[in-house]
Amino acid sequence: MISAEAYATLRDTAEGRAPLDAAAATLVALTAGGFLVEDGEDEREAVAETHRAARENCETLHLVLVPTLSCNLACPYCFEPGVTPVAGRTAMTEFVRDDLCSLVRAAVAEGTRTLRVTWYGGEPLVGWQNLVDTSERLIATCEAAGCGYSAEIVTNGTLLTADRARKLAALKVTQAQISLDGPPDIHDLRRIGRNRKPTFAAVVEAIAAAAPCLRVAVRINVCRRVAPRVEEVLAILAARGLNRSVSVHLAPLRPAPGAAGSAPPAAAAGTAIDWLDDREVAALRVAFDDLLRRHGFPVHPTGLPQPRGTACIADQDASFVIEPDGTVQKCDWTVGIAGAAVGRLGPGGIEFDEDIARWRDLDVPDDPECAACRFLPLCRGVCPLRRLAGEKPCLPFRHVWARVLARSAGFSPDEAEAVEPALDGPGLRGVGLADIAALADRAEREPPCDLQ
Ligand code: SF4
Ligand code: SF4
Repeated sequence: MISAEAYATLRDTAEGRAPLDAAAATLVALTAGGFLVEDGEDEREAVAETHRAARENCETLHLVLVPTLSCNLACPYCFEPGVTPVAGRTAMTEFVRDDLCSLVRAAVAEGTRTLRVTWYGGEPLVGWQNLVDTSERLIATCEAAGCGYSAEIVTNGTLLTADRARKLAALKVTQAQISLDGPPDIHDLRRIGRNRKPTFAAVVEAIAAAAPCLRVAVRINVCRRVAPRVEEVLAILAARGLNRSVSVHLAPLRPAPGAAGSAPPAAAAGTAIDWLDDREVAALRVAFDDLLRRHGFPVHPTGLPQPRGTACIADQDASFVIEPDGTVQKCDWTVGIAGAAVGRLGPGGIEFDEDIARWRDLDVPDDPECAACRFLPLCRGVCPLRRLAGEKPCLPFRHVWARVLARSAGFSPDEAEAVEPALDGPGLRGVGLADIAALADRAEREPPCDLQ
């Protein structure tokens, strides 16, 4: 962080009102942090190269495995109601398990060192025995091949008990993501069982049962109706003492890719969803950090998004979603949608359809707005699926970055505008990194800034 005083001196130097020496320590620190680079350096190419390397990295094979396409809930915004499982496609077969093990062995022979599994659905716990059997086969295969193994699960929580949580931990599952759709009255309208029973209380029990042996990440699905009431959810979890053992994050509900602006599917009375726009999402996330602190939950120390190599699993060459019958998808959102499949798993590995090219050829820097955008390393284009559907998703943080940065540096909201860097004035024109390095020796012993 740069103190207000150091920043004022830097501006004076940049605008020619103070000598270069006055801002020496700040310039040295900015250079060390990569904020100042030589004029000729092609930072865009460096950003693109980081993306290529992350996309092609096959050290980790990430498989999102769907032991069953069935789900015990009927959430109105989920793909499930629109999916008519084809007979024989709903539960993973022994043949697919064999093929998964072959796929892992072949990947290890090509250099993969770790298999990462995400259990997904449908509701993966509807396929409990399938999940257990497949886990045991894959763990044994990895051990025999000298390959690391780790797993996580995305579950609605309603079928998660303390016994199952312990068994999952024994099967090397380290994290469970469990969703709540707001406070009880809203959640129980949306996350309803196929038996029409409310589920909020059962999900909170499951979170409490799982927390002692799994890292639990509670995901609150938010829309305009839930947004003003997220604190109620935190208060309920904190009252159970769960603020000391679980993390909580927000996930804005979104219309289906390609359907932005249209009504959500199957909007029954009381369940219609009013999507938040990006500005609302950004503002809510900032306010949510304060709520987390107020209720004693862990909060990221800076609240700043971190650079990422790829947008998501769909943007990684060594990541695949495998459905129960071996159908391969690139994105977990398209599970169960046969027309979105990119291939099929068989004894000889994955046989890709032509459609895989659409994913492989998608390159966000081809979008001129993204190519010129300073946030590209933080978002990598947000969502390949939406881009393939013709949308232009963007990073909500873009709307609040100055406020969040200023706050993280200790500025008041009123001072936030001053954070916009102004380093191209006449006082710095023609100054190279070598000039700045030469200043280092002359810089004060106590630097006026502490870049992190
Ligand atoms: S913030 Fe938006 S415009 Fe910028 S790179 Fe990301 S998606 Fe593209
Ligand atoms: S393509 Fe979009 S919806 Fe699919 S996994 Fe990536 S971010 Fe999620």
